Amino acid sequence: MSIQYPIGESGQFLAIEQNVLDHFVKWRQVDPKMPEAGGQLFGAVEGQFIQVKLATGPRRSDRRGRFFFVADRLAERREISTLHKSGLHYFGDWHTHPQCIPTPSATDILSMADLFARSKHELNAFLMVIVGTAVFPEGLHVSLHEASSWSKLASKNSQ
Ligand SMILES: [Zn+2]
Repeated sequence: MSIQYPIGESGQFLAIEQNVLDHFVKWRQVDPKMPEAGGQLFGAVEGQFIQVKLATGPRRSDRRGRFFFVADRLAERREISTLHKSGLHYFGDWHTHPQCIPTPSATDILSMADLFARSKHELNAFLMVIVGTAVFPEGLHVSLHEASSWSKLASKNSQ
């Protein structure tokens, strides 16, 4: 099973595979003491499908609190080049929020625009997933970010 998100009028779909959803479930902030978690998203383009196949993180060297998550960027860059060799392309980032239905913070939006400007990536836009505590797809925020604009994706099932 995967959750699929049509991308505008492009005829393309973003598909989040089951093992990635399982990884998100593991880190949902359902317990009030759980800190935010996050990591990177990798996958491959298969025809009209942009398949998100792997979610990494969090790692020990990240800084994590109830309302913040600061990733170890050096380790992340190493991860991007390692996984690239096995055919997995870097698509973007994920992190959790202690919210039922997650909404991006102003900082989230700004840092995505900044990352888009600074990063090498395989998509025309940078993917951000925020994991809330509600069941999916309601508990997932999925958006695509460019330097000066972004758009929220709605899953096929919730349209
Ligand atoms: Zn956030």
